[in-house]
Parts: sequence; C-alpha cells; structure tokens
Amino acid sequence: MSHDPATLNVTPIENFPRPETWDQVELLDAKAWPRREKKSYMLVPTTCFNCEAACGLVAYVDKSDLSIKKLEGNPFHPGSRGRNCAKGPATLNQVNDTARVLYPMRRVGPRGSGKWERVSWDHVLDTFAAQIRRALVEGRKTEVMYHVGRPGHDGYMDRVLQSWGVDGHNSHTNVCSGAARLGYALWTGADRPSPDHENAKFILLLSSHLETGHYFNPHAQRIIDGKLKGAKLCTVDVRLSNTASMSDWWLAPYPGTEALLLLSFAHVLLHEGLYDREFLEEWVNWRDYLAWAHPGEPATFERFIESLKVRYAYAAPDKAAEECGVDAKTIVEVARAIGAAKRAFASHVWRNAASGNEGGWQVARCLQFVGVLVGAVGAKGGTNMNVQDKFVPAPFVKPPPQQVWNELLYPREWPLSHHELSFLLPHFLKDGRGKLAAYFTRVYNPVWTNPDGMVWEEVLRDEAKVELHAALTPTWSETAQYADYVLPMGVGAERHDIQSQETHAAQWIGFRQPVRRVAMERMGKPVEFTWQANPGEVWEEDEFWIELSWRIDADGSLGIRKWYESPYRKGEKITVTEYYRWIFENSVPGLPEAAAREGLTPLDYMRRHGAFLVKEGTWEVHMKAADAAGAAQRGEGTLEKDGKPVAIVASGAPRAGFNTPSKRCEIFSKTMVDWGWPEYATPEYITSHVHRGRFDHAKGEYVLVPTFRLPTLIHTRSANSKWLYELSNTNPVWIHPEDAARIGVETLDLVRVSTRIGHFVNKVWVTEGVRPGVVACSHHLGRWRLFENVAQDTYAMPLVRREELAPGQYRFRRIEGIRPFASSDPDSGRIWWSDGGVHQNLTFPVQPDPVSGMHCWHQAVKVERAHAGDLHGDVVVDTTKSMAVYHEWLAKARPVQGPLRRPLHFARAVKPAPEAYKLEAYKIEAYKIEAGKLQGS
Ligand code: SF4
Repeated sequence: MSHDPATLNVTPIENFPRPETWDQVELLDAKAWPRREKKSYMLVPTTCFNCEAACGLVAYVDKSDLSIKKLEGNPFHPGSRGRNCAKGPATLNQVNDTARVLYPMRRVGPRGSGKWERVSWDHVLDTFAAQIRRALVEGRKTEVMYHVGRPGHDGYMDRVLQSWGVDGHNSHTNVCSGAARLGYALWTGADRPSPDHENAKFILLLSSHLETGHYFNPHAQRIIDGKLKGAKLCTVDVRLSNTASMSDWWLAPYPGTEALLLLSFAHVLLHEGLYDREFLEEWVNWRDYLAWAHPGEPATFERFIESLKVRYAYAAPDKAAEECGVDAKTIVEVARAIGAAKRAFASHVWRNAASGNEGGWQVARCLQFVGVLVGAVGAKGGTNMNVQDKFVPAPFVKPPPQQVWNELLYPREWPLSHHELSFLLPHFLKDGRGKLAAYFTRVYNPVWTNPDGMVWEEVLRDEAKVELHAALTPTWSETAQYADYVLPMGVGAERHDIQSQETHAAQWIGFRQPVRRVAMERMGKPVEFTWQANPGEVWEEDEFWIELSWRIDADGSLGIRKWYESPYRKGEKITVTEYYRWIFENSVPGLPEAAAREGLTPLDYMRRHGAFLVKEGTWEVHMKAADAAGAAQRGEGTLEKDGKPVAIVASGAPRAGFNTPSKRCEIFSKTMVDWGWPEYATPEYITSHVHRGRFDHAKGEYVLVPTFRLPTLIHTRSANSKWLYELSNTNPVWIHPEDAARIGVETLDLVRVSTRIGHFVNKVWVTEGVRPGVVACSHHLGRWRLFENVAQDTYAMPLVRREELAPGQYRFRRIEGIRPFASSDPDSGRIWWSDGGVHQNLTFPVQPDPVSGMHCWHQAVKVERAHAGDLHGDVVVDTTKSMAVYHEWLAKARPVQGPLRRPLHFARAVKPAPEAYKLEAYKIEAYKIEAGKLQGS
C-alpha cells in the first residue's frame, strides 16, 4: 500500500518534509528572530495517547540536545491524515510538566496521607513479583487485577495476563460504552460501529462527533468530507453542541426517549416502503422472528413487514412526538431523508443517550435497526462493523486462555454485560465477594472518573480488601494518592504500542514509539531500556511487564517465563524491540514488501513512518465467500454444520455472513430470550430512570446530563497540559432561561445540585443551548488535590479540604483555587484563570443497567439556589446512602441460572477457556451476598 497523501484521499501538505528526509530537517529558529538561524531536527513519528483515536503525531527532536521541541500531525497516517485536535500537540506539556512524577514512589504512613519516598525500580519489581507469585502458587488467580482506563494498545496486556493464568483484566468500558456495545452486538456480533462518513449521503449522530466524539478527529474530518460532498447531517442531542450547530437538523428529545425517536424513523420507513427489501430478505433473520412471534403461520416476507408495523405501532410519529418532545413533521422529514440515502446512511452513538439511561443499550439497537432497514450495514457510505475496520496483528507466541472466571469482573447478575462491571468493584469488595492481592490501576482514575468515588476511596484505603496497589500513571491523580506505589509511565511520545482503530472503511496500524529513544538509536547512541531515554526514570509499560513477568517466574517453574523468551535468542529474555520486530516481520500483511521497496526492514519502516495502511475499501465483508464444504442447507439459504449456521447463501454463493448465531443481522435475538430477557427479544423502547414524568420542575426537579465531553480535555487523561487548561478551565451547569427564571438564578449565580447521595455547588450558565427541563454539566473538569505539594496538577486542581462530617459522610471544600505559581516554566506565573471546575461524579450513586451493566450516568437531581453557607466547589457525599442505591439497582438484574455464565458467542475482554464458562464450577463461597441487601435494604 502506498502512503502517498493522494491515495489517502487528503490534500498533500506541500511543505511537509517527506519521511525519507526526516533524519535531517532544518527549520528557522523562531526565538532567534530577527536573526535567520537554522536549527536541525530529527522527525520521529509516534501515536497520540490523549484519547482513543490514535492519531498520528510527528515529534521534532532537537538534534543539539535531544529535547522534543514540538509535536504535530503526521500527514502520512491513514486515520488522522495530518490533523489533530488540541490534545495531540499538548502532549508536549505532559512531557515537560514541572510537577510530573519522575521516579517510583512508595507511600510513607497510612494510605492517602500524602507522604511519599523515592524507591528503586528493582524494589518495585521484586515486591510485586513476590506478591503475585505467592497468589499464583496458592491458586488465587482472581486476586491479581490489572485495571485499565485508556488501553492505547491492542492485545499486549491480554498476553501478559494470560501468561500468568489469571482472569484479571478490568477496564473502564461500563462507564463509557458498555450499553452501546450490547445494542450493536445483538445485531451483528460486532460490539462497535464503524460509520463510513465520507461516502455517506445521510449522517445521523447521537453524539457531538465534530468536536468530541469517539475517534473524534478522524471521524470529524470525514463527516466534513461527507458534508462537502452533499451529505445531510442530523444530530440528536439535548445540547446545542458545536456539532448540532453544523447540522441540517438538530433534534433535542427528552433525555431517555431517543430509542423511541429512532423507532419512529423505522415506523416511517416501514409504512412508506422506504426499506431495502433485497437486504432485509437476504440478511435479516426474519424467519426466526416470525417463528417466534407468529408460530405456525406461513413465513412470508410480507407477513414479516406487516408484523413489524403492528409491533412498532406505538412508535408512530404523532405518538413519538408527544413522548419525545420532537415535532412529528420533523420526524417524518428526517426519516424520509434517511430513506432517500438508502444504503449510504452512516450513523453513530457511543456515550450520549446510550450511556445515560436505563435501557440505553436499546438506543444503539434501535439506531442500528434504522440502518438495517435501509440496508446500510457494511455498505459503502453506511455503517460497518468495527472488526472489519481494525487490524490487530498477532504476537510471536500467545499463551492459552485462562481456565478461571473472575466473578469480580463478570458477576452472574449481568451475563450480557459489555464488559466488566468495573465501576462496581469497590461495592463488590465491600459486599464481601473477594479481595485483591495485587491491584494495578493503569491510566485509570476511578476515584475521580467513576461514580461514587468515595466508596472507591474507602476500599482503596482498606488493606484487607486491596493488599497491594500500584498506580501506573504518567501523571498524579486523585486515585494515585491512595496507592502504595506510584509508578511513572511514559506519555504517547515515551512508550511503545501498536494501536489500530476503526476510523473509516480501511484497516491500518499505528506505531507508538519513544521518540527520544528512536532518535538516540538513529544517532548511534544505544539504549537498552526506554527509561534511559525518558525524563528521570519514567518507564514504559511494555518493558515493565516483561521485567515483572520474568521475576515472577525467574526459574521457569510456573511456566510463565517461556512466554517472555526471545524468538531470536533462544532462552534469553525478549526485548521490546524484538517484540515489535517479530510482529512487523510476520503478522502484518504487505508490510515486509512495502519495507523492502524502500530498502528497509519492517521494523525500520514502522520506526520511519509510524503507521501502515493494511487494507482499504473494507465494505461488505459479510459477502465474503465462505467455505461451506460439508454443510447442509436448512430452509432459505442457511448452511448448517452440526446444527449450527456456518454460512448464508446470498447472490448465488455461500457467504461468511455476520458473527451472530444465525449468521444474519438479528432483529430477533434468541440470546435475549434464552438469557432471561424475552421482553427484549426485539429492539424496543425502555422507559428511562430519568423519564420526564418523574420530575416536578416546580419543586426544582430536573434531569442532569453529566456526560458531555469538551473538545480540549478528556477526563483526567489530558492532565498536566497547561495549554489545554488555558482553553478550558470551568464547567458551569447549563440551564435553560425558563428553568433559570423558575429557580431564580442568572449566569454565574451558584446553585446546589442534589443527587440521592449528596450535592455539589457550581455556577450556572443560562443558555438556550439546552433543552428546557434539562441541566447539563461537562465531566471533564473539577479536579482536586488534598495536599499542597503532592498529587498535583496545579494548572487544574484546586486545593481542597476533605472533612468527615459523620461516619460515611464527607465534604470537600475548596481552600484555594487555581493561581499562578513559581516553577522552572515561566508560564506557571502567567495563569489567569482561577476556577478549575467542580467535581460532580463524586455525588453520583452507581446505577448499573440491569441488562448491559452500563452505569446509567443521567441523574435525577434537585436544582436550587445555593444555601446560606454553601461555597463554590463544595461537594458533599454520604456513602451509607450510596451502598443502598447500589443494592436497589443490583436487585433489578436477573442472575444467570446456568449452565453457562455468558453466551459463548459474546465478546469478552481477555476471553477464558470455554470450560471456565460453566456455572457448576462456580465458587459460591467467594460470592456471599446477604439476601437482605439484595432486596435493597
Ligand atoms: S483526537 Fe484524540 S488521538 Fe487525535 S489528536 Fe486528539 S486526543 Fe490525540
């Protein structure tokens, strides 16, 4: 594949140096002006680590002192094509941050007391190796846990954990995308969508993709490309986001009614005959649907359509208009425009309504229903499955799947969750479901990012529940301050990873690399470990896990060591360079040939280019020819082996189909019936926990939408970036003028926003950019620090005092806002902002959706003028109430009865062996819940 900009469908940046010249690039030194002095740089590509999109970056390494002078977009990267958001170049702030953790630190005194001492990496590795080895030898394979916020790699940790034989991968997914994943997976087996925006004729977004969405920058540029080619854009959002403002239609339904709005589009498509009969007949399991809905009746396609019309009569535009608060004529207009786009209908929901509401997973399912009706699945300009647009190369050896099942990750109450019930970990531990011998949080800040952060704090302080905790992090965080060890890890320009994302109809890989190390090696300065090229003793995680695994099993008796022996030097420990060298030489189709054409090895090619386009035009993979030898045809076009569909006959030949039990898109899900939710066998509208009927505005009751991203920040991952906080440093509560008048507040007045477990006090912004009856607050600000000189990002973290008002009742009160400070960076003395925002997530109880397990972020709140004595930034929480709310939601789930813990065809993070799925192997003694608690006492 060529990496010429012309084939990447992007206008070449004419003055950008070609990769073959990157060893020696001369630029005028801006600081020398008016003298025209040239400086020499080596350009080294890497991959941004400041959100999930994995955009390409190019670092300008000053050859005189090996410092990184700037980071900008890599025009030869297939996903981002040279464009970045503000967070990419701001990586430089994180590299040079004057408060960064440069050495491993061990706590002194009790957890959370804010006292630390520097220790050696040898001490850290030996301590954790001994603790993990002990747990493994004693068979405690569910007590070692790696909890990741931002992975940034594909498969590396799966391999590490499986080499240890533990079921210990935890993630952030169920506070992010778990609901949408279930909704999508039920249709095609793929739990993420990949819309082909640039070829679409109609784009429907339930998000703010042009400014913040998932795969933000790669998608945003392609949405604009699509618009420039004439595509219509419709945005569904309660806020007038920048995306909504660029749209042909902005629909702001009542929060929680989005699934019904989507079903009303489906209603119009069905009644006006705007559906794609050819696609539906061939690729949807409508016969299974009829057999379930109308047993014994003739299975004709006409009967199927008639049945759907009856089933979704409740979603007629006039009825939906009333429930959703969107004009019926607009619903019909948008639906017809979708119908006119036919298969070129691209759509996306990720967080937004899916992650806000009980039943939010049905939002994704109903959105995909609309796409299925117009035949847009996998089509050019339609919505592909993520697995077709992402390429994950295999490592040199892969350990077998683990034989154990960890109930702290996938408890039996949520057999269909996507994925780990990560945000309930402290609640499970408090309920006595287990303990952790070794716990790694990695770029993960649950005390701040998750709901119910004070329960996290309580558990992380408890050495009986969490025996040993290391925070692997590039920056200090609210969570790191409760760890036993804080281990500094590299940012995007200081580490290796391979990352691929489904940004468009293509497959590519990006190579994240430590740019100073690469520059040093090119200049003939050998580097054994990446930390030697990084500031202080900042490690990269790949090397950390190799070293740790080696020490866990130094003599090889546990069978772990062999997975870390070099494929090039028998019996010796693998290096990180060898790890990636093997992958590039053996696992990436076309890469060795592309490298050879440039006279490079595959590794050198990736070090030089930073990315590789594996395949383009990945549409219609379900039409791929299938090997159906020995299969028998059942009914209409289904080819079966051993009673299971293996292929579909379409266009006269056996086809691969979709990764579902029927190999078709499943409008009817037998999985839902078999796993305890027959009422949701088909896409339906579920009434949200924040349905508007539950609010009396006269009493100050509203729904709080707390999930929107800011373009410039991402949770706490973008911490310690002075440029970003200069752009965004306050998160007021958005409130409509009607509601502001009712409450009696104006912009900048303080309000008290009360949830079921506490309240926060913040400023308001009165704006018509939010739906009346809804208040909204971004969750990307409101950091805090407890100590003057520890655990800080002084550009964004106000100093607070944490007070225990009564057992389980806490108040955080701001002592000092953001202010200029002295440091070796003169910019720290130029800080002009003081707010920093207010933390809201601490006041949210956990609300796990009974089916998807997703935390339902939207909150039923009371909004009122701040009380006498309230101060801006106050946060008050009662954890005794929060545990009661958790048990209430727990009781809504339907525990699986067996024989399996989870459908085998469902994806699972780091999938165990099939034997581990069997419920009879379930260890009841590790899972004690008191009956009274289950009733929500
Ligand atoms: S969109 Fe994400 S990956 Fe791309 S530059 Fe911005 S933060 Fe980095």
